[in-house]
Amino acid sequence: MKTLTHWIGGKPVESASGRYGAVYDPATGAQEKQVGFATADEVDAAVASAKAAFESWGATSLARRTAILFKYRELLDAHRDEIAALITAEHGKVHSDALGEVARGLEIVELACGISVQLKGELSTQVSTRVDVASIRQPLGVVAGITPFNFPAMVPMWMFPIAIACGNTFVLKPSEKDPSASLRLAELACEAGLPDGVLNVVQGDKVAVDRLLEHPDVAAVSFVGSTPIAKYIQLKAVEHGKRVQALGGAKNHMLVLPDADLDFAADQAINAAYGSAGERCMAVSVVVAVGDTGDALVAKIAERAERLRIGPGNDPASEMGPLITREHRDKVASYVSSAAEQGAEVVVDGTGHAVEGHEDGFFLGVSLLDRVPVTADAYRDEIFGPVLAVVRAESYDEAIKLINDSRWGNGTAIFTRDGGAARRFQLEVKAGMVGVNVPIPVPVGYHSFGGWKDSLFGDHHIYGGDGVAFYTQGKVITTRWPDPADAGINLGFPSHS
Ligand code: NAD
Repeated sequence: MKTLTHWIGGKPVESASGRYGAVYDPATGAQEKQVGFATADEVDAAVASAKAAFESWGATSLARRTAILFKYRELLDAHRDEIAALITAEHGKVHSDALGEVARGLEIVELACGISVQLKGELSTQVSTRVDVASIRQPLGVVAGITPFNFPAMVPMWMFPIAIACGNTFVLKPSEKDPSASLRLAELACEAGLPDGVLNVVQGDKVAVDRLLEHPDVAAVSFVGSTPIAKYIQLKAVEHGKRVQALGGAKNHMLVLPDADLDFAADQAINAAYGSAGERCMAVSVVVAVGDTGDALVAKIAERAERLRIGPGNDPASEMGPLITREHRDKVASYVSSAAEQGAEVVVDGTGHAVEGHEDGFFLGVSLLDRVPVTADAYRDEIFGPVLAVVRAESYDEAIKLINDSRWGNGTAIFTRDGGAARRFQLEVKAGMVGVNVPIPVPVGYHSFGGWKDSLFGDHHIYGGDGVAFYTQGKVITTRWPDPADAGINLGFPSHS
């Protein structure tokens, strides 16, 4: 069995903990790899390596830093297929979807290539006689990232390219369920010329995470994962004096008004609910059908859902792959039966779906639930699987109240032909990312990504301008080159003239 390592100081390092996590191929259910879980000492070694590298990396010229990032961009581009295959082998998502994930990660590397524009300071001359003021932004030092299983390449790339471009050094703790992609990302970064220790990867579980949160040399923590862990990360990081951004879970609603093109809305609901087997934090998991749209919309979604091709991610014919683990698959399936018991109509039941030749894989068919009561577990919890709930609402007002009452506020979307209604929705909805006839409104790299309410803890969204702000600290320099006219003693508080 292959054992996956850490990546510390520019080379693979085996864990000596004797503790391992299983890494499965979700399409076959077979365990082909294991990953060694870090001890606190191993985390300390990674942080020490990052701290030593910061001494020179933080002072390396912007020209040199961006030259390496350009080279990295080229290497990633050339290895898209290989990285996507690593993702499919451990996560299960279909290859085309994995390629899309790599492309969205690359977008952030491209943004980082142009970091010099974003790091440009500001200068005000002659704010007082012979006095100038400059504002600059400087790196924080060693920063850490803790990432989830569902985007094993893209979410780390939301973080480290910007952090590194800004002059920080990085310790990544990827998901223990699919750790290979991040190791390859680190390896390629070294190949691009990134100095040893600038980007490190420690594998592990709570032991590694807790040590990063407590470590005095870690200045900031970026986290993406489930809401309970995001809350925990924020509290613990703050307790240890760190800057923190912790992105949590979601339950994204798609509101469909009676004037919407229902065929278009049904297509988009299918793509957004069942793509990547629903294991996306921006997946649509609730459709809110307004007025009399419900029956027709549900019929159109059901008809499309039954035609989806489910199979191994490395089969080009598959549109949806398996779920991440057997336990997660079974938990997702349990929401379909509990929804029926709690008053929902099960229109499509995917829980018995088998994939021929892959009986031990973690497959689940897609399910569609209608008239789901808001008290049902299938409405209240983040299911994170291919289960779409439809809720009926009499009016726009009832629909938006439902969305705004949700504890989560990651993404949301409205489907309509009415510009006035769409405009109202943009302004009134309580969520961080809004789509108008766009079901998965993940912002492009030069805007920032983040939710509201229980979907984000901290002040900054991730990547884009917020990413630069998060990974840098401001400094303001007031300068005077004295003139004989400035001489003299004056104990008053400096004022300007
Ligand atoms: P998770 O919260 O279980 O794990 C995320 C990370 O935290 C992993 O690296 C894991 O090892 C670590 N972790 C898990 N339990 C821990 C504990 N008790 N103490 C310390 N660290 C711990 O999330 P997941 O199952 O890997 O990912 C799915 C979740 O991530 C979903 O809730 C999804 O909505 C969310 N997600 C959110 C976004 C976003 O941008 N808001 C993006 C992707 C995923």
